[in-house]
Amino acid sequence: MLSNQTQLLRLSQGQLNLLEACPRKFQHTYLEQLSSPLNPEHEERQTLGSRFHLLMQQREMGLPIDSFLEADAQLQSWMAGFANAAPEILTPAIDNQTFRESEHYRTLQVQDYLLVVVYDLLIADNQQAQIIDWKTYPKPPSKRKLEQNWQTRLYMFLLAETSEYLPENISMTYWFVQSQGKPENIKFNYNTAQHQQIDKKLQKLLNQLTIWLESYQKNQPFPQVRDGSKVCDYCQFAPRCDRTQATEEIANNSLPNIDSIQEVSL
Ligand code: SF4
Repeated sequence: MLSNQTQLLRLSQGQLNLLEACPRKFQHTYLEQLSSPLNPEHEERQTLGSRFHLLMQQREMGLPIDSFLEADAQLQSWMAGFANAAPEILTPAIDNQTFRESEHYRTLQVQDYLLVVVYDLLIADNQQAQIIDWKTYPKPPSKRKLEQNWQTRLYMFLLAETSEYLPENISMTYWFVQSQGKPENIKFNYNTAQHQQIDKKLQKLLNQLTIWLESYQKNQPFPQVRDGSKVCDYCQFAPRCDRTQATEEIANNSLPNIDSIQEVSL
C-alpha cells in the first residue's frame, strides 16, 4: 500500500477529503481498510445513486435505457426532471468538434502519488471544457462547502494540468437530480489564481502525507483531530479512537460524507 520508487500510491478526491478531515480516519479507512457496514437506508440510497450513474453512462454510449426506466419509477422521474431542466446536457453533439465522454478517467502524478479522477461526463470543444457530476442525494450542500471539497478542487486542477485548456476555460457543474423534486445545479468556474492556490495546498497536503506515512512505517499512527472535535461525533471509529460520540443516535444516523455516496469507488 505504501509508495516506493516503482509503485505510486493512488489517491482520489475522497481520500484527500478524508486526509484533510482527519488523518487518523484516512489511516483506518485507506491504509487499514477498516469500515463499518452502511445502514440499510444509506445502502439503498447508494444503490439507487449507482443505478442513475449507470443509466447516464449507458445513455451517453447510445445504448437503450428504456427497459431500465420502465422498471424503476424513481429513475424515470429523475431522468424526466433532468431532461426538462437541462436538455442541452442530454443532447449529444451533432458536430465533430465536441468531445463527450461519460466516466472519463484521468490521472496525474504529483510527488510519489498518482491522483485519479473519474468525471461523470466531460464535454469539451475547441474553446472550453465542462465537467459534469451527478448527485442523487436530496439536499445540495452549500456552494461554499462544495467549493472546499476536494472533488471540485481536484477535478478542475487535474483537467488543467493534463490538457491544453487554460483554467479560465474549465468549469465544473454538479447536478442534483432530486433536490426538492426539481433538479438544481451548482456551477464553478475556474481560474489561474485558484489553480495556483490548489497546487500549493495539494503539495503541502502530500508532503504532510509522506511524513505521516514514514512515521506510520515506524509504528507511529497518523494524527487525530483534537479531542472534542465535532467530526468525531459522526465518525464510526470513535470507539477505536477512544472518542465518545454525542449520542448513539448520531452514530447510527451519521450520513456518510458526499464522497462516499453515489460515486465510482477508486
Ligand atoms: S474518531 Fe475522531 S480522531 Fe478518530 S478517526 Fe474519527 S474523526 Fe479521527
